[in-house]
Amino acid sequence: MPKIPDDIVRRVQDAAKIEDVVSDCNVTLRKAGVNLTGLCPFHDDRHDGNFIVRPSTVPEKRGGNTYRCFVCDAKGGPVTFLMEHERLSFPDAIRWLGKKYCIEVDNVPVNYTPPPPRPAPPPLPVLEIPRSYVVRTMQIDQERTVIFTSWLRLLPWDDEQRARLQKTLWMYCVGGWRDGRVVFWQIDHTGVPRAAKLMKYLPDGHRDKNVHPGWIYNQDGCRQRLMPDEHEIIKPLFGSHLLNRYPKAVINIVESEKTAIIMANYYGDFDSQIWLACGGLKHLQLDSLQPLIDQGRTIWLWPDKDGRDEWQEVCDKLGYDKCRVYTHFFDTCWRKEDGDKADVADIAIRMMRTGDKPRKEEPKHKPVKVGDIITHIVDDGQPFLDPEEMADPRVRMWRETLRQRYNFNKSRKAGSDTTANGATVK
Ligand SMILES: [Zn+2]
Repeated sequence: MPKIPDDIVRRVQDAAKIEDVVSDCNVTLRKAGVNLTGLCPFHDDRHDGNFIVRPSTVPEKRGGNTYRCFVCDAKGGPVTFLMEHERLSFPDAIRWLGKKYCIEVDNVPVNYTPPPPRPAPPPLPVLEIPRSYVVRTMQIDQERTVIFTSWLRLLPWDDEQRARLQKTLWMYCVGGWRDGRVVFWQIDHTGVPRAAKLMKYLPDGHRDKNVHPGWIYNQDGCRQRLMPDEHEIIKPLFGSHLLNRYPKAVINIVESEKTAIIMANYYGDFDSQIWLACGGLKHLQLDSLQPLIDQGRTIWLWPDKDGRDEWQEVCDKLGYDKCRVYTHFFDTCWRKEDGDKADVADIAIRMMRTGDKPRKEEPKHKPVKVGDIITHIVDDGQPFLDPEEMADPRVRMWRETLRQRYNFNKSRKAGSDTTANGATVK
């Protein structure tokens, strides 16, 4: 069989749009920021949000025209998708796409019959935990979570921070389990409890690594009543129930629940900033961020020191312009003694001890002085803004105007110099 010429392969690849191809293969996609998400067709997925399609409208260098599943790690472009999903050979995938995009490939018929559509898994009701469960765990707070809460109380808070600690704990609905584990409720932004994580802490404030974290619906007694297997379980970010209560607050997201509570109490001022936790480095997922994006909230991600790159990647994939990885606190406050695995709360606690205060962040984009720009343009000829902005014709025009004005000023200045030197000017 003759090989398909390279230039035709290239033309087909350039024409192929991942969002079309995935939709053609019976995967329903919905918009999530600039991305699209749906159920992953490569594993038994019941959870919209793990399978991300970065559409062809996104530039290639920013991962455009690709798909990726964060659970089974399936990934690639339109051709890979067809090869994996429809079990086509590479040439047949090219022929399939050629047919779709009206590009003549060769005369070999596509060896491909569409498979019967996969039956969609029956939808399960989403687990909803009665609020009485929350109340009950909070009533045994005093005696049960005594190790964790007394560690928190003994931190070197200032008077204001100490005064609001109990309120902070109540706000986050921190409860206790009968065996002394702390209960961190995950209540969604509409106020419905969806899950709760149970964790044991040691007197030094660290987690007891010998006791695995558990989920409330798996505990004896709860399992029978909540029936987690018959439900879809969603896990909103810890602290999501505060979203609607503080509609203007910037959303800070950290890894651990403990860190969120400490930072919330450290800064107070819930009207301007609230603290949410995703539960760990790997748990920052698109579907749990979606309610925040839907509300148009500003999101600052505060990964632990060793998690920056990973969260930056998530942030890039998210493609939501009001989300960024916040590093100023680390950059200005972290010290060697905090260690390479430090999270923001570790640093905040050290600063409470030493009396250091975090520095306010300078505005990132200081207004640029026209003079600076002119010097920049003329002296080293570098674009004064990033290349993408330079592509904007308005910026190019502005730059040209500035250059002309600069030349005009220079010749005027040269003229006045002559005057200073005593030459006669009319
Ligand atoms: Zn998958």
